[in-house]
Amino acid sequence: MAKIAPSLLSADFADLRTEIIKLEKGGADYLHLDVMDGIYVPNITFGAPVIKKIRKVTNIPFDVHLMIDRPERYIKDFVEAGADIITVHQEATVHLHRTIQEIKSHGVLAGVSLNPSTPLEAIEYVLNDIDLILIMTVNPGFGGQSFISQMEGKIKRMRKIIDERNLNIILEVDGGIKLSNARDIIDWGAD
Ligand code: ZN
Repeated sequence: MAKIAPSLLSADFADLRTEIIKLEKGGADYLHLDVMDGIYVPNITFGAPVIKKIRKVTNIPFDVHLMIDRPERYIKDFVEAGADIITVHQEATVHLHRTIQEIKSHGVLAGVSLNPSTPLEAIEYVLNDIDLILIMTVNPGFGGQSFISQMEGKIKRMRKIIDERNLNIILEVDGGIKLSNARDIIDWGAD
């Protein structure tokens, strides 16, 4: 069964406690935390101190999506804040393999995200090291954007690679996911 990771980006930031409890009661499987730094993406959201505070109000696993430049500088901060999964962008870190190893060394799951224009081949040589791949279906930076239709083929291809090679990788899809297209995206192979 597919899992749902609602993004905190859509929440009322003035009342995060209420919003998170609502998600917990609604059955969210993960809380997706979109961290943006204003450099890697043209928007700024929140960082480890906020995550550390909201960790106290819920037991939902924290799926931390780092849209920040050179994320290796902050892995420890996000682990200490309570992250269960840390996903970095392939485009944002020069030594991807090293960054993945660092995340795993802290005992949390390691994910890699790809922007719409980044080919799957970019992570060919880390497929045996990662726990999650996050396929961006909008250009990261803002909530509320429309799903880029060409990503259908990318999701299907990734599913095929995971199945054919029997890889233990969660296939996550992020951006423009709505009730109206969620069914299709699951059918294409998203977890
Ligand atoms: Zn995200």
